[in-house]
Amino acid sequence: MSPTHYTWSPLRCTKCVDPDAQFVPEDSDCPDSLLCTKCLQHGHLPYITTSELRGHLTPGQVLGFHDGVMHVGTPQTDTDNQAPEGLTAYTRRVVELAESKVQRATWKPGKASHLLVLRSSGPHGPLGHITIGARSGKVLRAELAYGRSGGRREYAEGTNAVRALLAALPVTTCPPHCQAETPEACAGSNQR
Ligand SMILES: [Zn+2]
Ligand SMILES: [Zn+2]
Repeated sequence: MSPTHYTWSPLRCTKCVDPDAQFVPEDSDCPDSLLCTKCLQHGHLPYITTSELRGHLTPGQVLGFHDGVMHVGTPQTDTDNQAPEGLTAYTRRVVELAESKVQRATWKPGKASHLLVLRSSGPHGPLGHITIGARSGKVLRAELAYGRSGGRREYAEGTNAVRALLAALPVTTCPPHCQAETPEACAGSNQR
């Protein structure tokens, strides 16, 4: 199982709902007792315990201190897997094509370029990534490998070459616990 990744944000106060409110430890010796930095200004008692705060979380969320301020960590799921802004219409079609051929496509947005990481659940399916220029929104290149243990590799440079590579890619049929010994044997045995 892959480790859960969390998106951290300062925990909001539901009592005073002040956007600048932060929960800080009341006393550094007692991290379970917290106080809201804004509640008093709004006429509320600022004290709260971590166990009370946990009651406000949605399932899967966790609490943690970052720089002395209580934050809530929300597990990243596929619904967070939004395409970055600024992709060209042609890029979006290439992305759709890639998503139709692999079982999992995950965005890794970056400053200079974005990566669309492609994964398959079976051991012989394609895996790799497509690189997209952050400023241009255009597909730059793609790198694919077949099989986790060093199978065939393919590389394409430029939007049209990447599109052609993806178009030629068979829809992955390799099941999660595939017993085939090579990617070629797998493709053969799963085709019919
Ligand atoms: Zn408050
Ligand atoms: Zn297989």
